[in-house]
Amino acid sequence: MVTTAVDEHAKVWNATLGELEVTITKANFRTWFKKTKIVAIDGPTAILSVPNTFAQEWLSKKFHEPILATLRGHYPDVRSVRYEVSAVAAPPAPEGVQIAASSPFAYRGGSNQATEAPDSGALNPHHTFETFVVGSSNRLAHAVAIAAAKNPGTRQYNPLYFYGGVGLGKTHLLQAIGNEIKRRFPTQTIIYASCEKFTTEFVEALQSKRLDQFKRRYRTADVLLIDDIQFLSGKDGTQEEFFHTFNALHQTNRQIVMTSDMRPQSIPALEPRLSSRFGWGMVADIQAPDYETRQAILRAKCDERGFSLGDEALEFMASRIQSNIRDLEGALNNVIGHCELYAVTPDTKLIERILAQTGADLRRAHLSTESIFQTVAEFFSLELPELLGKRRHKELVYPRQIVMYLLRHELNHSFPKIGKSLGGKDHTTVMHGVEKITKELKKNEQLQREISLIKERLYAS
Ligand code: ADP
Ligand code: MG
Repeated sequence: MVTTAVDEHAKVWNATLGELEVTITKANFRTWFKKTKIVAIDGPTAILSVPNTFAQEWLSKKFHEPILATLRGHYPDVRSVRYEVSAVAAPPAPEGVQIAASSPFAYRGGSNQATEAPDSGALNPHHTFETFVVGSSNRLAHAVAIAAAKNPGTRQYNPLYFYGGVGLGKTHLLQAIGNEIKRRFPTQTIIYASCEKFTTEFVEALQSKRLDQFKRRYRTADVLLIDDIQFLSGKDGTQEEFFHTFNALHQTNRQIVMTSDMRPQSIPALEPRLSSRFGWGMVADIQAPDYETRQAILRAKCDERGFSLGDEALEFMASRIQSNIRDLEGALNNVIGHCELYAVTPDTKLIERILAQTGADLRRAHLSTESIFQTVAEFFSLELPELLGKRRHKELVYPRQIVMYLLRHELNHSFPKIGKSLGGKDHTTVMHGVEKITKELKKNEQLQREISLIKERLYAS
């Protein structure tokens, strides 16, 4: 029966997506797996429908191996995959079949949104101090996190503010504090929320005239953990509300912990009364892990999974993946997945191949300001002097802002430093540029693809 097959395919594809999702970066996942599904299993061939030729090319070139490997876990007879561009963006359901209800993304309760705002308000029980590996890059942050968890509300650590690049363990540490306080002081009310969630709830409370309820909830918490506070940027109403929440809690010595991708003063369009308050207690940064720490993390994660990687393979991986802990973890998942699927033991050759296939081998060390200039210029068919010059043509400003964004996010350069690299631009101009691209990236798929492609070229060179 058609219905059963469609349902079955949707379920299997759903499960496959779930497995794939943990092995590739969120950005890649969102960009390339959106609106994909299994159309049919035709003997040894799985037919996947993809939304456009772009996705077709990427999936078949970049993700074919992991897709095939994961699919075969469900359909052992499948030997190949065909990627078909669907005729319309959202293919109509065969008669009488409710695809919407069982399409991968609907089925997962809107996983797209879930990746945007990873928290549901609940603490992940795995994010504890026990599972957090300490190294020189995060030692201070870890120490103050422990201190705050032992004595929440102590002036010296209130508020506590962590900042650092993506995938370096900010959320993990924030939640570890929550989990630890919950263990030590079971009666305390702990609220964990991303800044986005705080904002959404505030806006909804406003609209439904339930502001009192909202205020009471946040202002009577014993512990408030806010993830990615940089998203307060530019949201005036929410900033006002957060200001009062902050004061209510701080005045009564209730613990506040925040994370961000930059220090308080650097968050663009944030009221000074907030940025100054964020620095009242302790501000601690988290850096990219060094080689020793990367090894220690791999060792710990292997132990957790009961997987043996061997010294040589482990050292090799630790030397190759330098970007952040999330990438390291993702790459390890890939390797473990592959080894378990094919019942092989990992060696450096195999790992090299897996890393190359999955694009996890981010050779960030080879990146430079120069290579970002070159790659962006080539991508937009511009001459370097045009890209770096002063003319304010729309066709030039946009690539320039992408350069700013990449320098900030891939190389972690400060705004003033980026301004200097770009021929003496004011740091507020740079901030504005980075912010613009960051915002735009959330909704503009074209831009998402462009950035993906540019990064791909950057890391391939
Ligand atoms: P961020 O919030 O800074 O982007 P996360 O806290 O989400 O990063 O960390 C990314 C992944 O790396 C998570 O799975 C997290 O558990 C893991 N991780 C980060 N730092 C550590 C660490 N020091 N020890 C063990 N795992 C870590
Ligand atoms: Mg985070």
